[in-house]
Amino acid sequence: MGKVTGFLEIDRQTQKYQPASDRIRHFREFVLPMSDEEVGRQAARCMDCGVPYCHGPTGCPVHNQIPDWNDLVYSDDWEGAIRNLHSTNNFPEFTGRICPAPCEEACTLNLEDTPVAIKTIEQAIADKAYKLGFVRPQPAKTATGRRVAVIGSGPAGLAAAQQLGRAGHEVHVFERETRPGGLLRYGIPDFKMEKHLIDRRVEQMQGEGVTFFCGVEIGKNKPLAELTAQYDAVLYCGGAERPRDAGIPTHGLSGIYDAMPYLVQQNRRVGGENVQSTAWAAPEIWAGAKHVVVVGGGDTASDCVGTAFRQGAVKVTQLDIRPQPPKTENKLEVWPYWATKMRTSSSQAEGAIREFQVATLEFVGEDGHLTGVKCCEVDERRKPVPGTEFVIKADLAFIAIGFAGPFDSGFMAEAGQALETRADNRGNVSIKASDRDYRTSIDKLYVAGDVRRGQSLVVWAIREGRQAARAIDLELMGATTLPL
Ligand SMILES: Cc1cc2nc3c(=O)[nH]c(=O)nc-3n(C[C@H](O)[C@H](O)[C@H](O)COP(=O)(O)OP(=O)(O)OC[C@H]3O[C@@H](n4cnc5c(N)ncnc54)[C@H](O)[C@@H]3O)c2cc1C
Ligand code: SF4
Repeated sequence: MGKVTGFLEIDRQTQKYQPASDRIRHFREFVLPMSDEEVGRQAARCMDCGVPYCHGPTGCPVHNQIPDWNDLVYSDDWEGAIRNLHSTNNFPEFTGRICPAPCEEACTLNLEDTPVAIKTIEQAIADKAYKLGFVRPQPAKTATGRRVAVIGSGPAGLAAAQQLGRAGHEVHVFERETRPGGLLRYGIPDFKMEKHLIDRRVEQMQGEGVTFFCGVEIGKNKPLAELTAQYDAVLYCGGAERPRDAGIPTHGLSGIYDAMPYLVQQNRRVGGENVQSTAWAAPEIWAGAKHVVVVGGGDTASDCVGTAFRQGAVKVTQLDIRPQPPKTENKLEVWPYWATKMRTSSSQAEGAIREFQVATLEFVGEDGHLTGVKCCEVDERRKPVPGTEFVIKADLAFIAIGFAGPFDSGFMAEAGQALETRADNRGNVSIKASDRDYRTSIDKLYVAGDVRRGQSLVVWAIREGRQAARAIDLELMGATTLPL
C-alpha cells in the first residue's frame, strides 16, 4: 500500500483549474497538472482497503486495480503503474479526464468526504506514460487469419478493435464521420478533452494493424450484408445519439436546436473541419452576444453551457425540471453508491444561472425568431404549479434532455425486423444482446456500448467493447486469453 499513515497526514488535493475568466477565452483543456511529487503524495493516501470498493462493481466499471496502481505511483514506478492500468482500461487518458469517477464516490475515505484523488492520479499515470514513451503499439505475435469488422469508432468500438487486433484478428473499423472517436470527438468539447489524445491512440492502433475507414456509413454507403458476408464477425458500436423528443411547442421559430448539432459544429470548428456534419444537419449556430437558455440538467446540457460562454454568450440559463438536490448526502444511506447531491460542473461554475424545479412550457418569439422561453414551477411530481408562469429572455435555446436510442438509420432499416430491440417505459430503444455474449438476433452480428445499454458513460463503453471483443474471440477461436 501507499504510506501506512498517509491518509492521516496528507490532505486530499485535486488538480486546479485556470480561473473561469481566463478559460472561457479558449477551447483548450484548462486543468493545471499537478507535480509528480504531489501526485505521489495523493497516492500515498490510499489505505489498500481489505474490500476496495473503489474498484468493485459500484466503483469502477472496468475494475481498475486502483489500490495497486496507487502503490506503484507512490513507489515512483510509473511504468508499472501504466502497465497495471492498461490491463483493465485501454484509454485511461480519456477516463482520467472525463469520467465522473464513481470510484471516488465508492472510496472508503469518501465516508469522510476526502476520497483518494483517483481520477487525478489516473490522468497523471496516462499522461506521464506517453511523456516517457511507455505507450507503444503492441501488435499480436501471430495472426489468426480471422477478420472482424467494427462499425463505429466511439470508445466502445475503439476498445473492442484494440482488443481484437491484439488477439491476432484482422480488424477493420468503419466510421460514418470524417474522423474516429464517436462522441469523444464530436460530442464532448475540447475544453474537457482535447482531440489529439484520440489521434495518438488511433496511431497506436494502426501500429497494431487496425485499419480505419472513415466517411463510410454502414447501411448507407456500404450494406451490412456485405460485411456479414465478408467478415467472420461484425460488431456494431453505433451509439445512442437520437435526441429525446421534448414535446415542447416551438411554433416553427428559428433559434431552437437540439444540443448535438451545436456541440458537433463547435468540435468540428476547433478541429479545423467544415462545421457542417452530414449526420447533424443544421444552419451554423453561434451563441456570441446572445441570451442562451439550455433545457436539461445533465452532461450534455452542461457542455452547451461551457461552449456558449466560450462563444461569448451574454447570459446562459440552465433549466432543470428536478428539484435542487441537497448540498450533501447522508453517507450512511448511500455510500458506496453514486449520491444525488448538488454538483456544479466547471462549465456551470463559469457563470450559468441554474433554475431548478422548472418546466419548459413553450418557446415564444417574434417575426419567426425565438425571443423567450415560457416556463413554470413544478411540484414534487413535476406537475405545473398554477400561477407560476414566467418568461426568460432568449435568442438561442438548446434542448438537452437526453437520448432515446440509435438513429433511425440505414443500418437499422437494413437490419430490419430480424434485429431484436427492446424499449423501456420511457421509450428508450436499444439493441437486444446479453452482457455475456453480446450476440444479437442476427448471425455473426454483435453489439456493444450505448447502442446496447442506452446512453451511458465512456467507461461503460470501454468495458462493453472489451467484453464484446472477448466474446467474439472466444466464438472465433474456441478459447480466449482476453480479459473479462
Ligand atoms: C455531449 C455529451 C457529453 C458527454 N460527456 C461525457 C463525459 O463527460 N463523461 C462520460 O463518461 N461520458 C460522457 N458522455 C457519454 C459518452 O460520450 C457515451 O456514453 C460514449 O461515447 C458511448 O460510446 P459508444 O462507443 O457506445 O458510442 P458513440 O461514442 O456514440 O460512438 C458511436 C459511433 O458510431 C458511428 N456510427 C453510428 N452508426 C454508424 C454506421 N451505420 N456506420 C458507421 N459508423 C456509424 C457514429 O458516427 C459514432 O462515431 C457524453 C455524451 C454526450 C452526448
Ligand atoms: S477505497 Fe479508497 S482508500 Fe480504499 S483501496 Fe480504494 S482508493 Fe484506496
